[in-house]
Amino acid sequence: MDWVAELPGAAARGELVAYFQPQIEVSTGRIVAAEALCRWNHPVLGPISPAEFIAAAEENGVIDEIGAFMLEQGCAFASAAGLPGIQVAINVSALQLAQPDFSARVIAAYERFGLDPAQVTIELTESRPVSDIPEAVAHLARLRDLGSGISIDDFGIGYSSAKQLEALPFTELKIDQSLIREDTEETWNRVATIVAVVRQKGMRIVAEGVETQEQYDRIRESGCDRAQGYFLGMPMPQTEFEAYFAANQRTALPRLARPVSRALAALNLRNLEDLAARRRTEIASLPGVGSKTIALLGAALAAAGLAFAEG
Ligand code: C2E
Ligand code: CA
Ligand code: CA
Repeated sequence: MDWVAELPGAAARGELVAYFQPQIEVSTGRIVAAEALCRWNHPVLGPISPAEFIAAAEENGVIDEIGAFMLEQGCAFASAAGLPGIQVAINVSALQLAQPDFSARVIAAYERFGLDPAQVTIELTESRPVSDIPEAVAHLARLRDLGSGISIDDFGIGYSSAKQLEALPFTELKIDQSLIREDTEETWNRVATIVAVVRQKGMRIVAEGVETQEQYDRIRESGCDRAQGYFLGMPMPQTEFEAYFAANQRTALPRLARPVSRALAALNLRNLEDLAARRRTEIASLPGVGSKTIALLGAALAAAGLAFAEG
């Protein structure tokens, strides 16, 4: 069955669905954002992976249609009443940047949803160097100047090179999952080098494809700002995400001074449930933790129906 011919109009026929995968702020363990990922539920063949149909959509000129749908879904997500303050990352193909009205359409969507541009990050998934497209820089600079994030996806492989980093107005870098998955000393050293260089530019660093506790620990040690992966949360429809977010909010740690949140993170304490497994005296002995912090944590535990461990 030649499904490529059926791609045009898939959005209009209601066959496309946006899924959202949580991004966790490493220093606090909080959900701060989600990446919007497209799904195509073909009426006969069932779900087709974006890894397959995005490439076909780029070749067949359907990518603008899919891009428009995902922009709409992403903006709806970021402005949902059940997701206060949550940001969204929207994948954009290099080809979409060749549209003369690309940034105007994005800005119109922000206005339609009453969205602060800072709640949206445009993620560039490149199949070819974006710097080849003259309009691209202007579109991205315009959106960045409004406060939106501009992210370079899959960094460390292919075209996502240091050269691209110079040529375009990026605010965020996503370390490719192949680097995280390789999980060798060599690749972790590479991650550390990337982090060190990118830090100097004031860019945010996101690690994706985090599948295990060990990988998450390495991510944290290497100084990445955000993490994403099956270990932290699967891509899911918006309704499911809202339930997941509400549950996480109830057990989220309160905002703490950075040294304190680092000390808790180093003990693998990511939420109030983790905290409730520890003794008050143990937490009080951590660097930077005083009686005020203990009172704050005690109150947060009590509000969630929890308490420090006995003894
Ligand atoms: P990507 O932008 O690099 O997205 C991350 C992919 O990794 C997603 O695959 C996600 O489901 C998957 N993933 C997340 N965590 C893990 C993990 O821990 N382990 C592993 N093995 N995989 C993980 P997905 O959803 O199949 O999307 C594949 C690619 O299709 C995306 O890669 C992106 O390049 C493209 N894509 C998806 N949605 C869109 C879209 O709306 N527009 C455009 N232009 N491209 C899209
Ligand atoms: Ca992406
Ligand atoms: Ca990626």
